[in-house]
Amino acid sequence: MIIRFLGAHNAESRDTKLVSILIDDVLAVDAGCLASELTFSEQEKIKAILLSHGHYDHIRDIPAFAFNNLGRTTKIFATPHTLKILSSHLADGVIYPEFTKKIPLFLEKPSLKYVALEPFNPVDIEGYQVMTLPVNHTIRAVGFEITSPDGKKVFYTGDTGPGLSALWENVSPQLIIVDLTFPNRLENRAKNSAHLCPKMLKKELIEFRRVKGYFPQIILIHLSPRLEEEIKEEVKEVSKELKHSIGIACEGEKLII
Ligand SMILES: [Zn+2]
Ligand SMILES: [Zn+2]
Repeated sequence: MIIRFLGAHNAESRDTKLVSILIDDVLAVDAGCLASELTFSEQEKIKAILLSHGHYDHIRDIPAFAFNNLGRTTKIFATPHTLKILSSHLADGVIYPEFTKKIPLFLEKPSLKYVALEPFNPVDIEGYQVMTLPVNHTIRAVGFEITSPDGKKVFYTGDTGPGLSALWENVSPQLIIVDLTFPNRLENRAKNSAHLCPKMLKKELIEFRRVKGYFPQIILIHLSPRLEEEIKEEVKEVSKELKHSIGIACEGEKLII
């Protein structure tokens, strides 16, 4: 499984992009920069898109992606709540076409098809087994455990506050890609906005090892760019305490598991 981080931050600038991950060139997870960070031919290879929740930084490029890929239909998999946000606020027929319907003289074939996912109900998406798992966030949000045809498993948490431990019984990933948005100094802000800081992450990871008996490879994502240096120092400490390395995703990085 080749995992490519297109966007790894919660704020966009020339050097930082919103969260998007590409698996084996064909399966996209979140769409913060899915059009802006890929060539047209790379976009054409994408067969399905998973969306963790309906916040702007995770769905932003769906209309641009749909516009770029007129003439073929791409499936978008998300909870009904997220699909509703997408269809009522972004690809809403006002600021952009809905893309799920034919439009005379413009859209002969819908370029998007929405497919609703249910938590804890594994589905086959283009040969990958995808398990949807509810996480703690300010709106309804989910993470995904994705199993490749050759049995490799990655768990992407999406945006999440504390409470991941409740899911550890249900997953067994080799790699976990987990939200880490704030430094410890802003623990209250992390709690209020349902994200994690290093101290909170440490608790969840200790619980993972207790329940599962191992540590997976860990990569952090969704960092606040202006707080990144402070976060990195604190993550180093957690890594030392747990005696396990913790990586931080960056734009353009590729990882093979
Ligand atoms: Zn969010
Ligand atoms: Zn976010």
